[in-house]
Amino acid sequence: MPRHNLSPSLIARFFHHECQRFLRYSAVPRADRRALGIPDAVEEHTQVSELLTAKGLAWEDEVVGRKIPGLVHMAPGGGAYHDRRFSAEESLRVLSSMAAGSGAYQATLIVPPSFYRRYGLDPEVCSFHECRPDLIWCLPDREGRLLRVIDLKATDSLKTSHRIQVGLYALILDAAIADGGISAVADRNSAGIWLQDADTPEILTIGTDLQVLEHFLADELGKIMAAPPASLPWHLQPKCEQCPFYLSCRREAEESGSVSLIPGLTAGGRQFLRDGAGVETLHDLDRFLSSPGADEALEACGSLRGKGEVLRRQVRAVREGTVVPLDGASPSLPVNESVGVIITLQREPVGGRICAAGFRRFKGKDIYDAPSREWIGVAAGEEECGAVAGGFVQALYDELAVLSAYNEGKAFAEQRSLQTYVTDLSLIHI
Ligand code: SF4
Repeated sequence: MPRHNLSPSLIARFFHHECQRFLRYSAVPRADRRALGIPDAVEEHTQVSELLTAKGLAWEDEVVGRKIPGLVHMAPGGGAYHDRRFSAEESLRVLSSMAAGSGAYQATLIVPPSFYRRYGLDPEVCSFHECRPDLIWCLPDREGRLLRVIDLKATDSLKTSHRIQVGLYALILDAAIADGGISAVADRNSAGIWLQDADTPEILTIGTDLQVLEHFLADELGKIMAAPPASLPWHLQPKCEQCPFYLSCRREAEESGSVSLIPGLTAGGRQFLRDGAGVETLHDLDRFLSSPGADEALEACGSLRGKGEVLRRQVRAVREGTVVPLDGASPSLPVNESVGVIITLQREPVGGRICAAGFRRFKGKDIYDAPSREWIGVAAGEEECGAVAGGFVQALYDELAVLSAYNEGKAFAEQRSLQTYVTDLSLIHI
């Protein structure tokens, strides 16, 4: 039995959280955690998480059963496709013999000794579990065969963690092919992500991802796994709410008066304060900010540049539990703009699709028939999400096209300006 829970999906989640503590804690099997002072993980089994799991499995069944029927080698047995997995021995046989134009579903890969040697990893300190890419697809490669990893994701957008996961599968497949004497080549240039409802997988170029991963495996993973768990850096961020150790980290932050309690402080900002000024707690930060030259020192950190006064007020607010006003922007909108548009978009929690969207155009009386216009679309079910997003884009396009037509051919000084607003900064990413 491997001594650790390392796997491509765990490493992908590490890249998502950007937290060494998360990786170190999660990689230790549950039974060994107490002895190392690692808190219990709280895995939330909410209705949403159950729906997400069910949706992921249904998507796998849909792809292998209906999108590419007859082209996929599947482990023998009855029941749902997602319950059928090749053993490691069966996988070697299938990967050795399958023809170009076919694939293997849930083949089991054992991380071979050559993988650990290649990256200087001690298997006693960093051991990987057996892993199963959803699909390994066989393509012709000159006279031979190329094996490409394809992962199935029940979401409609590609994430960095998807790239990391398929990239690590590709590196493991590469080593497993060499170790197992399989006459094929692993595809280290491309991998596939098959997103929800797509007819074909999206093929990604993964060369840069593999460079990042190989650097991580060779230079960072061993150090993280050899370190005492309590010594590793951590920092509370909004995405920590998805982490099973959130409650204990939150409690620790409150009990120790950690600088992590400052809202909006980035992981990079926290590292800068720790490494550059020895700041761990709110008290440390208060002391640092009161010292001469603190504001100049913050200039060296991108996320803290020019934020000295805001930080001082945030520290006061958190330490004293009181409201300290910032010199924030006024909620009033600029008076000189010609046309304003406020946009809002919401994602549904299971698949992350846009399920509600809307905009409100205001001003522009001399351009539009009406002084304002609202467009709001809300999907009644998952199947309507695409129509809502499409309807939103079309309606917004039509509204802006009127302004564009008005400005067409006019001198710059006579043209009307447009200002757009979002109700939440997270919308910028959507
Ligand atoms: S809650 Fe956040 S800080 Fe704590 S282990 Fe998880 S990712 Fe790291």
